[in-house]
Amino acid sequence: MENSAAVEYYCARDHLTRVIFSAEAILDVPQTWECTTCFQPATRNRETSDTLKSVENPGRSFTKSHQTAFQQRRTKRESEEILATALKKLRSEQP
Ligand SMILES: [Zn+2]
Repeated sequence: MENSAAVEYYCARDHLTRVIFSAEAILDVPQTWECTTCFQPATRNRETSDTLKSVENPGRSFTKSHQTAFQQRRTKRESEEILATALKKLRSEQP
């Protein structure tokens, strides 16, 4: 036990993944780990700077990235629809 330490990772869905590292490995612990529950990337944010982060913007980084991804998908879909509509209009206007 003395020669190992548990590092906790939290994924975007708030699953806890606890990984045991040896004393040598603890010096080079990865910033992210695969969540053992949903297999999404989990980060050490909560363990290392939870207090600081919750004061500044609680859970905002995840929400923001999700919103951005959604908006990008939506924008792409909308632009595809606009393109399809434009093509349709163009064809219907042709003699
Ligand atoms: Zn998870």
